[in-house]
Amino acid sequence: MRKPYIGGNWKMNLNRTGSCDLARAVADGVNSLRGSVEAAIFPPFVYLLAVKSILRERTTFVKLGAQDVYPDADGAFTGEISMSMLKDCGVEVVLAGHSERRHVMGENDELVGRKVRAILEAGLECVLCCGETLEQRLKGETHAVNEQQVRAALAGVPGDHLAKLTIAYEPVWAIGTGKVATPNDAQAAHEKIRGLLNTLYGDMWASRIRIQYGGSLKAANAKSIFIESDVDGGLVGGSALKGDEFNAICKAAAEAKSQ
Ligand code: PEP
Repeated sequence: MRKPYIGGNWKMNLNRTGSCDLARAVADGVNSLRGSVEAAIFPPFVYLLAVKSILRERTTFVKLGAQDVYPDADGAFTGEISMSMLKDCGVEVVLAGHSERRHVMGENDELVGRKVRAILEAGLECVLCCGETLEQRLKGETHAVNEQQVRAALAGVPGDHLAKLTIAYEPVWAIGTGKVATPNDAQAAHEKIRGLLNTLYGDMWASRIRIQYGGSLKAANAKSIFIESDVDGGLVGGSALKGDEFNAICKAAAEAKSQ
């Protein structure tokens, strides 16, 4: 049985006070869900330490996440943040290949793959994002795009690093648009991704690796998607900026998987 996992990606939002207030609201609000759900929040880099001290003070199960990382250990990479810097700040989980990194910042599969390997080799959790654009979906390329992105990102990742891997299927047309995938469409994409994991790593890992859905999730639609058998929680953007809404999504995941 895979425990549902909810991530809150704060993107480039909030200030220090707002980040600390939201971290407190999440830590306290999901406390009663300990054991039935896993959760992580991904503040902007500059608020990682402030948020970490709130999470520590609350002795919460909510993990600290980073939205990105640069794969080299150190050196002349102005503006970038390394794995060891993230570890130093108490980060436990890192996103790789988010659609905004791919489509706004222009990251390609090769760079995403280097990031995935750097995160897993450092012993941290990695949430690898994949998903098709609207144009690709209309051309019937959804599964092919997911397959290509996941294959490329996992090239060279050995089986013994997979315990810390989560995949987030995030159709680009659903991110921040208010358009959510239907439960059937999400399930179909997740089933294909799980099938690919089976091909790449065998049944044991395919049945263990969690696949989150992301794209305009809110409390009102989350449970209908989380109830699907291959959906193991979600990666949440806009709704993660409101404590009550994010906490309700975590509760929906716990309820969906306890049924
Ligand atoms: C995301 O950024 O990963 C995301 C899913 O955003 P939103 O929930 O706002 O669509």
